[in-house]
Amino acid sequence: MVIVAVLAALVVGAGSSLLAEVIMARRVGVKPQCPYCQEPYSPVRWSAVLALLTGRRACERCGQPLRWQRLAGEVFLMVLWGVLAARYGLIWRVALTMLAGVPLAMVLVTDLETRLIPNRIMLPAIVAMAVLGSLMGPAVPGIGTWTWWQSLAGGAVGLGVFGVLVMLGTLVWGEGALGQGDVKLATYIGLVVGFPLIIEALVLTFVGGFVGAVLLLLSRKGSLRSFFPYGPFLVLGAAATMLCGIEIVLWYWG
Ligand SMILES: [Zn+2]
Repeated sequence: MVIVAVLAALVVGAGSSLLAEVIMARRVGVKPQCPYCQEPYSPVRWSAVLALLTGRRACERCGQPLRWQRLAGEVFLMVLWGVLAARYGLIWRVALTMLAGVPLAMVLVTDLETRLIPNRIMLPAIVAMAVLGSLMGPAVPGIGTWTWWQSLAGGAVGLGVFGVLVMLGTLVWGEGALGQGDVKLATYIGLVVGFPLIIEALVLTFVGGFVGAVLLLLSRKGSLRSFFPYGPFLVLGAAATMLCGIEIVLWYWG
């Protein structure tokens, strides 16, 4: 079953990573193609993981390697779906959680590639998750009881916290330190994990982001003023909360 989940994630992950690139490039209905020379991909290269495994990383025409960001999106979804299936089996809340992971994989690709979190991914995802979260509860398989407002309250907390952060960041560092895309992503993650787990997801995000920023400073590749992408840390904090949010809380309060 885990193998089935991972293989399904390979297909869905490849599809959503490619869709994310299409949305970013504002192309419509085009076959998967090389971003450098527009050569159409052969089917084995539609998936970055498959291309890597079969040793076909480089484009047949221009020789440019695959973008690693697409690989990150696919691997993210494969790990998420695989661990979900292994831990919880294929119950219906796992299906909801798997579905909720797809927009996260997509913005992981777009944020790593262009530092953008497109509205055309985030806004439909927020609307869909607000409806699903109210009807079915947060997309966290470990939760026991839930009420209809938990998901919406989580979204409100994500929106509030990151809304204030972006305002402060703009005041201190000027435009662009944190983006509006991060606010929408935090809102979506709040809808996914619900209240009160959104607090945990945000704490994990800030801890991860802080460690990342320190590593960046130590490597002397950037200063504190240079752009720091919070999107990937939001995605990882959300995934950790979806997979084992309850256990982390119990361990901390243990
Ligand atoms: Zn090419």
